[in-house]
Amino acid sequence: MTDSHTEIQDERTHSNFLRDQIAEDVRTKKYGDAQVQTRFPPEPNGYLHIGHAKAIFLDFGLADEFGGKTNLRFDDTNPEKEETEYVESIKTDVRWLGFDWDRLCYASDYFGQLYEWALQLVKAGKAYVDDLSADEIRRHRGTLTEPGTDSPYRNRSAEENLDLFQRMKSGEFADGSRVLRAKIDMASPNLNMRDPVMYRILHATHHRTGDEWCIYPMYDYAHGQSDSIERVTHSMCTLEFTDHQPLYKWFIAQLGIFPSQQIEFDRLNLTYTLLSKRKLLQLVQENRVNAWDDPRMPTLSGMRRRGFSPGAIRSFVISAGVSRTNGMVEIEMLEHFQRDDLNHRARRAMAVLHPLKLVIDNYPEGPEGQKEDFVEFVEVANNPEDPSAGTRQVPFSRELFIEHDDFREVPPPKYYRLSPGKEVRLRNAYFVTAQRVVKDAQGNPVEVHCTYDPASRGGNSPDGRKVKSTMHWVSAAHAISAEIRLYDKLFTKPDPGDVEEGQDVLDNLNPNSLEILTGAMLEPSLANAKLEDRFQFERVGYFCLDPDSAPDSVEGKLVFNRTLPLKDTWAKIEKKAGA
Ligand code: ATP
Ligand code: MG
Repeated sequence: MTDSHTEIQDERTHSNFLRDQIAEDVRTKKYGDAQVQTRFPPEPNGYLHIGHAKAIFLDFGLADEFGGKTNLRFDDTNPEKEETEYVESIKTDVRWLGFDWDRLCYASDYFGQLYEWALQLVKAGKAYVDDLSADEIRRHRGTLTEPGTDSPYRNRSAEENLDLFQRMKSGEFADGSRVLRAKIDMASPNLNMRDPVMYRILHATHHRTGDEWCIYPMYDYAHGQSDSIERVTHSMCTLEFTDHQPLYKWFIAQLGIFPSQQIEFDRLNLTYTLLSKRKLLQLVQENRVNAWDDPRMPTLSGMRRRGFSPGAIRSFVISAGVSRTNGMVEIEMLEHFQRDDLNHRARRAMAVLHPLKLVIDNYPEGPEGQKEDFVEFVEVANNPEDPSAGTRQVPFSRELFIEHDDFREVPPPKYYRLSPGKEVRLRNAYFVTAQRVVKDAQGNPVEVHCTYDPASRGGNSPDGRKVKSTMHWVSAAHAISAEIRLYDKLFTKPDPGDVEEGQDVLDNLNPNSLEILTGAMLEPSLANAKLEDRFQFERVGYFCLDPDSAPDSVEGKLVFNRTLPLKDTWAKIEKKAGA
């Protein structure tokens, strides 16, 4: 693989039809001398996920490129599903990605203005109160091949509509008993234009406006008008809103307000990943994961906790590009950018996940009864990719831990690691040769005895003799123990949304997505790890400290998350399964 730092090009060199359109509008002065204005409009009904990162990079990134501004606007028109906790998490995540908004807005700030405009449409005979139930409205709507039928309430007088709508607002009617609809065209080939609902009655407490309102605007009515109030020039959204664009334009044209324009781009879809707040909420509510920020979640908070970085997410999103049709991106591509980022900046450390004792019989001993007290320090580079990261001293002694997997009493063919009579290198330390193994009652190795060659200090061959394997280790007397959490894909299917009749997406959950190791042994320098530090545990993978750690507590509890293995094991497993 090539050094992907050369692959990560400046985003401007990637063609992007959104950028082209903005450039064209600026050139032709479509909005006069007004600056480019965009918005990122999340509904505060869950935590942001990596799909939102794409929208954020486009909304903020393109505005930046043109010297424009971006608002963060909460699309809070569904009081029953929205919470302040989500608002706060969204702000944190947007900032984490490196952006700051111009104005912080809420659709709920515009409830008054939206209502005034609705009154205006009612008075102009362009909106009416309908007493049909939601079900009846659906039945009257027609299909793609058949026109809809008029509601019997469609031709109420403007006066009657005005009276009813005002009474809807004042709380006289029950939830669901009436709606306000735009009066457009029940025969339109576009179903969204068949008298769409503008307001519904909902006696619910809103996270910001409390009980002030009992009617709430629908997305289609609120969104475009909110854009217009904020003088948004380019309202970028995902492709599922393409069919809503005529309605977006219709409201703006009827009201004669600032002509914001909607442009659609493709949703980010990732293999083995579900990007739907509704489904992610279900995972949290049913305790299928521990929280929104569970490191297995594709949420930005989960990815942050897992050790992903904003820079890698940005490189990935830019590389995945934008399109006018929806596709699916391989998760391995995201992992590639993250590995590349970590490879350049992660500090190296040695950690043994499944410890097996290794005793060097001919190594100098401390005084009787304190044999393991003889210690020397070996110098180790903190990051071979970055000499400026410096070196550190790692204690080496007579008794060490190595990985269980790195020893086989009876080595299979092509097994080059430790086995009786075989010589290997202990990284940065010495050559050792296994001599004998002590086993438990079940015949499992519990202690391997070896001899070392003092002339190989630093891990260098004294006489040109070669060893086929280099292994990591930690000094038993100096090692610190930690809990290690290994993560795998949350879903077993490349497209988890692809379910059979009668099955649920959550049936595709990977039952082995989390493995907890409690007895790992780490080199002592890791006791000082900070949450923001990134590590490569040599030969094992990329890791970071989890906030569940309490290094200052009596137990000095340490928990490390595996961000990613060094190589993609999943690809290998799949290949084997296919073979
Ligand atoms: P979800 O289906 O996950 O709830 P949503 O589209 O309802 O997502 P919003 O809060 O409405 O989420 O989204 C805010 C913005 O993020 C919108 O402009 C939306 O188009 C965009 N967005 C959401 N998901 C993706 C995605 N997977 N890829 C790109 N943009 C996305
Ligand atoms: Mg939504």
